[in-house]
Amino acid sequence: MVLDLRFVFIGFLVIASLIPLYIYRKEIYKRFYKTGSIKAFLKDCEIYLVSNFPKISFDFNCYLKYENEKDIRIKETLIVEDFVNQFIAQEYELTTQNSIAKELLWGGYEANSRLIKDNKRPTDWAQRKEAAWNREAGKCNRCGTKTKLIDSQALLAKQMKDGGGFNLENIVILCSDCSKIIRSENKQRTAKDLNLTYNLMKKVEA
Ligand SMILES: [Zn+2]
Repeated sequence: MVLDLRFVFIGFLVIASLIPLYIYRKEIYKRFYKTGSIKAFLKDCEIYLVSNFPKISFDFNCYLKYENEKDIRIKETLIVEDFVNQFIAQEYELTTQNSIAKELLWGGYEANSRLIKDNKRPTDWAQRKEAAWNREAGKCNRCGTKTKLIDSQALLAKQMKDGGGFNLENIVILCSDCSKIIRSENKQRTAKDLNLTYNLMKKVEA
């Protein structure tokens, strides 16, 4: 009988100690995820996006869609995904570009501009790409970001199969992200593969 009473007492103590846990469960749960302001994160994203991608019109109010998300890391990740999707969704068409001054052209330019058999690129392709890159001051035609010559991609506005040649007017300079998007069959898979996604995710609260 004495033993039974002790068990009852211990049982009572166990239950009593669980009550505050139950009452304060929300407070305790909060410690597992990070809460706080995303103001600095949003400002940081805005400065980065506006200064690096002047041709893309981002909607910076998209964060309002994720107001109810309490975990700051999840919220910021959702906002990054939104920005990336906006970047991908930007309408764009490859179009003919400006000519460059005749004196900047080189010997064999005209002859090499015409389509060659087997759809091969002309021998002076690298020179053409560089001339087009210089014409654009190293900026991507789609998003406006500055891109190094080595990282840039030169695409034909009018495809070879449609009779497009290698004349400079037909060469468009894109950054690697935009060229991936244009060629992509699966935009969502491409989204994970973009430098933009990588750079924005670095800003998400660790
Ligand atoms: Zn671009």
